[in-house]
Amino acid sequence: MRFCPKCGARVILKRRDNLLLLECHRCGYNAVVDENVREVSEVTTSRFEAVTIVSGNTENIRALPTTTAECPRCGYDKAYWWMVQTRSADEAPTRFFRCVKCGYVWREYA
Ligand SMILES: [Zn+2]
Ligand SMILES: [Zn+2]
Repeated sequence: MRFCPKCGARVILKRRDNLLLLECHRCGYNAVVDENVREVSEVTTSRFEAVTIVSGNTENIRALPTTTAECPRCGYDKAYWWMVQTRSADEAPTRFFRCVKCGYVWREYA
């Protein structure tokens, strides 16, 4: 059983293609679970918190480049993007998107 890191509600696990998606119906939180990694929910949660922090620190990111990416929250198809090196330096940098329309921030799941 998994719980939403944002609001604490029980989340639903869904399978789409090869991905396991974690979805909260109360607050709309969602994340992709990497089945190759154990303790995935912790990993995903900490990364999501990192995203949130990034989002808070980049309120004036209008200079960032935009790209075509569909916002998981509102469906708008343009987003700012930037690269972030996650906690372990031996990992490839992760690309983050921020919806131009609603400001939702998410990461790219390569
Ligand atoms: Zn939630
Ligand atoms: Zn959006």
